[in-house]
Amino acid sequence: MSLWEDIITIIGEKKDKTTLSLLKEIKKVELKENTLLISAPDDVFKEWILSNFIDDIKTCASKLIGQKLTVCVISEEEKEREHKKERKKKQIREEKPYRFYRLNPKFVFSNFIVGSSNKIAYSACMSVADNLGKIYNPLFIYGDVGLGKTHLLHATAHYVLSKNPDANVIYTTADTFMSELISCMQQGSILEFRQRYRDVDLLLIDDVQFLEGKERTQVEFYHIFNALHLIGKQIILSSDTPPSMLTGIQERLKSRFVSGLVVEIKPPDLETKLSIIRKKAKEIDLDLPHDVILFISKTVNTNVRELEGSLQKLKAYSQIMERPITLELARDILKDILKVKNVEELTIQKIQKEVANYFAVNLNDMLGNSRRKKVALARQIAMYLSRYLTDKSLTEISKAFKKKDHTTIINAIEKIEKGMEKDRKLKLTVEFLRDKILTL
Ligand code: ADP
Ligand code: MG
Repeated sequence: MSLWEDIITIIGEKKDKTTLSLLKEIKKVELKENTLLISAPDDVFKEWILSNFIDDIKTCASKLIGQKLTVCVISEEEKEREHKKERKKKQIREEKPYRFYRLNPKFVFSNFIVGSSNKIAYSACMSVADNLGKIYNPLFIYGDVGLGKTHLLHATAHYVLSKNPDANVIYTTADTFMSELISCMQQGSILEFRQRYRDVDLLLIDDVQFLEGKERTQVEFYHIFNALHLIGKQIILSSDTPPSMLTGIQERLKSRFVSGLVVEIKPPDLETKLSIIRKKAKEIDLDLPHDVILFISKTVNTNVRELEGSLQKLKAYSQIMERPITLELARDILKDILKVKNVEELTIQKIQKEVANYFAVNLNDMLGNSRRKKVALARQIAMYLSRYLTDKSLTEISKAFKKKDHTTIINAIEKIEKGMEKDRKLKLTVEFLRDKILTL
């Protein structure tokens, strides 16, 4: 006979028949070390045993085994509830990377090119990542689209998680925040929503300008913000406008936005653009000559995303055509982007002026028939660069140089091309002028 049957027999001597048959319904009893584990079919049964028999069972079992035992009663329902909880926890743990982090693995600090335009924002993120909630809280980053705000937010999150994988980090955009809020409200799980956001070490909200005019979301966000701020949890926000320019956002929220540190990301200067292009081209394994790099940095205006876009385009073309990218090709391929941007056209006149300036010759002399060596050289270089740097036809170029037909232009181009092969000084001069004109 099993231990449980013995117990029932002994206890049952003093009990009525019904009680006895009920007790017999308990099928699962285990002895684990010093504990007798009794599984009751449901919660009511468990209560019934606990309030009526627990002492009897304990005394009886201890006597039978010959040592002091603890008795523990669990109900099947209880077990099921525990399982459910565990499953849910596990699910949340598994979902977390997708639901909460949504981090682009490429957006890390080491990939971010720092220049004078973004240095402050970059350093602020780094310091915040190292001192969560301790220095600038909140950190508010603003700047035009495509300048690296999202990149910096993700980089900060990556960095914090790399130092502490258990840190509770939420990255989200203001509009995702809003749609989550709405769906939680519809499902009646607003408390869960609040709890989720109040339980973080670092909250990053991208594009807060989306909150404009969204009253209900602003109220919810305001409370979450305050709750986090109060207990020193870090908040980082980004926006495409400075806080003062945000319209349709409650004043109390705006004043929270500026209560920490507000930094701007400006469009990259030429030097930063050059390093961004070099680095990004390398990343996609695209070999670009220097003049093309200069050309892109000059013509594709300020947006890093567009810079990337143009590099991708060049890469695709060079692969399809199986040839390296030259300036001429680049100009052609990027025409649409440049047209849309309406960049200031590089004119022949500008080239003429620059070259004349460089050689310190009179512009009229250069456009006339003077045969003085310096003037003639300047003229030829100017013709060559006009052909090389603009998409003007030979006829147009001859006109601009006051020549009747374009043989002179062709001769000048050939002369400079050949000269550059042999004469290093000439080559350097032409390249210098080319770079200078491209970055005008
Ligand atoms: P924003 O959020 O400000 O609109 P993103 O962070 O999405 O801009 O940046 C657009 C693209 O440009 C991304 O691919 C990003 O990696 C890249 N980018 C922006 N700034 C830099 C930078 N300084 N160095 C490297 N990549 C950059
Ligand atoms: Mg962004």
